[in-house]
Amino acid sequence: MFAELLLEIAVVALVGIASFAVGAVDFSGFLAALFLGSVIIALPPEGWRFFSVLLTCHILTYGSTRYKLSQKAALGVAQSKGGARRWSNVAANVGVAAALAAAYSQSPTPLVAASFVGAISAATSDTLSTEIGLLSSSPPKLITSPKQRVEPGFSGGVTLLGILVAVVGGCVIGGVSQLLGVLPTSLVGAVVLGGASGLAGSLFDSLLGATVQQIYLCERCRKLVEEKVHCGQPTKRVRGIPPIENNFVNLLATIVGAASASATLLSLV
Ligand SMILES: [Zn+2]
Repeated sequence: MFAELLLEIAVVALVGIASFAVGAVDFSGFLAALFLGSVIIALPPEGWRFFSVLLTCHILTYGSTRYKLSQKAALGVAQSKGGARRWSNVAANVGVAAALAAAYSQSPTPLVAASFVGAISAATSDTLSTEIGLLSSSPPKLITSPKQRVEPGFSGGVTLLGILVAVVGGCVIGGVSQLLGVLPTSLVGAVVLGGASGLAGSLFDSLLGATVQQIYLCERCRKLVEEKVHCGQPTKRVRGIPPIENNFVNLLATIVGAASASATLLSLV
């Protein structure tokens, strides 16, 4: 039991160190990933299956962040620090999933497992649709007014490519979860569940991004951004409601993903 726990934490630490070494997370992100990864691998029965779902999300989102990074940097839309995620970003994307993995250890029901998969699907789809959608050759349209074009990377902007990638990302998470035995559905059912929750989470993210999320102006590069600091200096808020910033929206999107997965599971059985 104790040896197993040590082995599990060693696996999480190895993944964390590798992620830090390749620049997927900064040091604070590494610590957050170590904690949340340990919860996910150690608490549920056969937690390595849950951790493998998280690992699939991690590999897909890291790959999408690095994909054509120089082209995104040239557009001025690349994540800062080469895409290294801070603790707040890791917590926003994985926190709900870790809480659901902990809940599964107390109540190992298909509904809790599906919610976990939905939260991971939403986190995956959201990042994938942003990172790949940025490269769309057609300009993004505002989700709340589809005739209005916006700059790539603008909160609330959506592209057909981004939406397709969100669905595919969710489908992959759903399928992998079924193959690992986390989801007690058919493979097709799991793919539908993952795709639906990924799409729901990512559209919800865009909807809040277009309405209540805070947007800031960077006075150095004159871009509208989601960050309080850009180009190494504080930015000015131009719209949005105070506590609602990017990570808060990401966290809510994973809750929407979890709820969509529960609803999909209930409609499948
Ligand atoms: Zn700037």
